[in-house]
Amino acid sequence: MRGRWIVLSVLLALLALAGCSGERDLVFEERYTIDADLDPADRSMVYTQRAEITNTGSDSASELWFHLYANMYKGLFQTEDGDVLVSSVTDGAGRPLAYERSQEGVLYRVRLAAPLEPGEMAEIRFSCQVIIPDLESKYGVSPAGDVQLPGFNLQLAVYDENGWDTDPLPEEGDGRYAHTADYDVTVRAPADYTLACNGDEQSAAARDGVTEYRYTCRDRRDLVLIACKNYVRRERQAGDVRVLGYFDPGTAGVTEAAMDQVMDAAAFALEYFGGLFGAYPHDTLVVTNAALGTNFALSMEYSGLVTVYFDLETDPTARSHITFHETAHQWFYGAVGNDENQEPWLDEGFAEFAGNLCLGAWGSDWPGWEISANAAGAEQVKDDKVNLPADEHPVYQWGVYDRGCMCLKELMDAVGREAFISILQDYCHDHWMGVATTADFLAAVEAGTDGDVGDILAEYIQK
Ligand SMILES: [Zn+2]
Repeated sequence: MRGRWIVLSVLLALLALAGCSGERDLVFEERYTIDADLDPADRSMVYTQRAEITNTGSDSASELWFHLYANMYKGLFQTEDGDVLVSSVTDGAGRPLAYERSQEGVLYRVRLAAPLEPGEMAEIRFSCQVIIPDLESKYGVSPAGDVQLPGFNLQLAVYDENGWDTDPLPEEGDGRYAHTADYDVTVRAPADYTLACNGDEQSAAARDGVTEYRYTCRDRRDLVLIACKNYVRRERQAGDVRVLGYFDPGTAGVTEAAMDQVMDAAAFALEYFGGLFGAYPHDTLVVTNAALGTNFALSMEYSGLVTVYFDLETDPTARSHITFHETAHQWFYGAVGNDENQEPWLDEGFAEFAGNLCLGAWGSDWPGWEISANAAGAEQVKDDKVNLPADEHPVYQWGVYDRGCMCLKELMDAVGREAFISILQDYCHDHWMGVATTADFLAAVEAGTDGDVGDILAEYIQK
């Protein structure tokens, strides 16, 4: 009898392990409703978030994992004094749900009161308080008063072949991995602030010194809120897409000429990439200046919003190049997602490659390819494989951006531009609004070539 129990226990343990290793069919649709009050002077925001998670897979889920990416910036991209505190987690009826917080508040494991069966929707409500830190590079409030709050919200972790994505965040790279979701966002803020987010503004109504903004963000891979007292707005039309600029002229480098340059470059890139890789998936692209933090500023992509570094010292062409790169992420990150920890080259290498293509179409003689080729051939990285995790590259920027870019450039030179763009089109089409892996890209290359690129793949990619 005991032996049988041992066998049964081993079987149960194996089943449990199987459950953790991603062998269950767990697929979800995510819809979020956020209601927030932002008080920049107090450096705080409180919000409630309702998550409606529908199980569209064929197995049941007893728990859900969420990321709260703003907390990954603690001590890394912001000063230490920021935090997003989750004060309560309940079901739709207000009954408390058990949860565990880990990785300094980046990861939340929520245990459901009852298993979420296929076809069912679970409602989870979070109450949160955001303590806004000084911005170092991506998150917080800058000395000039620009508030940038990417990832202040909770979003469902990805469940893939390895189970729930609970990888600790590396020190290199952007660290995100998410499916797309729909967000309805309401934010109230003092009326002397102008707000924007990476969605479509539905209304902005001022009353008693407070403006209430309502946004809808469909098929977004993240959420970001920006605010400033001094924003000036600019607008362009790029085909069917509205490009909305929000710029703080109080930030170094944000001149009239530079704003025009960045708006023109974003509009050009949207049309150019739309023609190459598939139509931009949203109605609006918001463009803003990268806030200048305590140490430096970073251009950055979000789903439907980009920040661009305006530094006056920079060669003006570099500013266009940055705008092209960040806009390219609307395809390689936004439309075709990837795990930025495990395979960051799938967004950074591709965006760098697309940015260089766009430079050529723009008519610039900026030596983008040459710069990438030099970095890609540097002694420290010349043997680096592009598809390694973020923290395994000897020099992250050169290994991921530059070698990633040159891998694609060499493939293009080998098979011909038209054939290679066709491969990229198929890759985008097949993974549009999903997530892709290096294996998916290799499958697209294999399908689009007669197999004469093995040497290039062997040089750049670890099988
Ligand atoms: Zn990038």
